[in-house]
Amino acid sequence: MRYVSTRGSAPALDFEGATLAGLASDGGLYVPAAWPSFSTDEIAAMAGLSYADTAVAVMAPFVGDALTREELRALCVEAYGRFDHAAVTPLVQLDERNWLLELFHGPTLAFKDVALQLLGLLFERFLSTRDTHLTVIGATSGDTGSAAIDALAGRAKVDIFMLHPAGRVSDVQRRQMTTVLSPNVHNIAIDGSFDDAQAMVKAMFAHQSFAGRFQLSAVNSINWARLMAQIVYYFYAAVRLGAPGRPVAFSVPTGNFGDVFAGYVASRMGLPIAKLLVATNVNDILHRALSSGDYSVGTVTPTAAPSMDIQVSSNFERLLFDLHGRDGIALAGTMHGFEQSKRLAIPQAMVGEAAGLFASARIDPDGMALAMRKAWQTSGQLLDPHTAIGLAAAHAADLPADVPVVTLATAHPAKFRDAVERGTGQRPILPLRIGDLFDREERFDTVPATLDSVETYIAERAVPIAVGA
Ligand SMILES: *Cc1c(COP(=O)(O)O)cnc(C)c1O
Repeated sequence: MRYVSTRGSAPALDFEGATLAGLASDGGLYVPAAWPSFSTDEIAAMAGLSYADTAVAVMAPFVGDALTREELRALCVEAYGRFDHAAVTPLVQLDERNWLLELFHGPTLAFKDVALQLLGLLFERFLSTRDTHLTVIGATSGDTGSAAIDALAGRAKVDIFMLHPAGRVSDVQRRQMTTVLSPNVHNIAIDGSFDDAQAMVKAMFAHQSFAGRFQLSAVNSINWARLMAQIVYYFYAAVRLGAPGRPVAFSVPTGNFGDVFAGYVASRMGLPIAKLLVATNVNDILHRALSSGDYSVGTVTPTAAPSMDIQVSSNFERLLFDLHGRDGIALAGTMHGFEQSKRLAIPQAMVGEAAGLFASARIDPDGMALAMRKAWQTSGQLLDPHTAIGLAAAHAADLPADVPVVTLATAHPAKFRDAVERGTGQRPILPLRIGDLFDREERFDTVPATLDSVETYIAERAVPIAVGA
């Protein structure tokens, strides 16, 4: 499989190249040159497969000959063996038509483990045959940081530097990062906001005299391999609810449009998805874009669902690429205009085309709290705030009565104990695997929020590119 940039001019890469790369050199994102597809017989044959075998079947066309099928299977068995549920991503029935797809049984209790556990192994595998040491730099408001650190801790030939805003992530989230003591994990508390941290990461990648000294890489959802791993659970869930004979709808709590884009790919591959519900909170740029074509950036309002407090959804560009007929040069022009003016009017024909598959909803804090309370009272389920927003969108959707609706449960309620307690009166208990989190030793350094201080900190610890390599 070849991967091309959404902006049409960066060189095409194979799967290994696309996995190790961050942004394409023309500023675009890598996507497969064509969508693979499955026949209904091939989808029906997934019905009895384990999660790992479903993963192999779904991902093999994207991996191509970068790995043998046996190698891919061994990586999937290892990655998903670390989940604490034998079904990896179990379905839970809420009422006659609503289901939860629990994606939070991985080591750090959020769905990001599903992709990052595999990505950590892919990095290690691809680096093993290269004379390269990878320096991963990222910024996190919580979930991505802990999932990436868990996935990369102790792995050969890679260091991870994770910036988080000091004092502005929850105690659980901070400790999930700072109690990982492997020497290749470097936690940096920035004396500033998440936006400061993220702006510094972008500046470091763009700062030639710094970036040129290291083999930098990214683990946020611009990485294609992350999205690829997320396509799997759409197939896994839908075949258990009757696909390919019966269409299924999914409601997806959305921030960067990564998780829901994986659902779009599943649909392109032949999975009968009746609707993809894009659930946003009051940071509703995606709801405005999909309902009226107004993709314009507002200011971020902090909410109880911080992973959805996003104004620019990087992966939306991948959908726009298809809506532009895969004309990367045309999309590059559109995106440059958007980067300058912070607004983009999506033509009505494209809004109409997207509406065939996508619907969207904007859920305010009251709607979130109501969905959380209702799930507790009627089904005895505690939901984290992100999942509650997804379920509220599922309740609001206009769908045929015989279509089952699967809400993606993206985080364990114990990750957001205060918000869940406010909504339900119940304080979720920490799962066994992190029960001792508050007794573990923490390690992190606090660094001033200036580019110079952070670059100096990293340069003193990272492995530079070998001279002559
Ligand atoms: C990251 C995250 C999301 C948003 O996912 P995207 O792929 O960015 O749309 C939703 N819920 C939780 C709990 C998350 O960690």
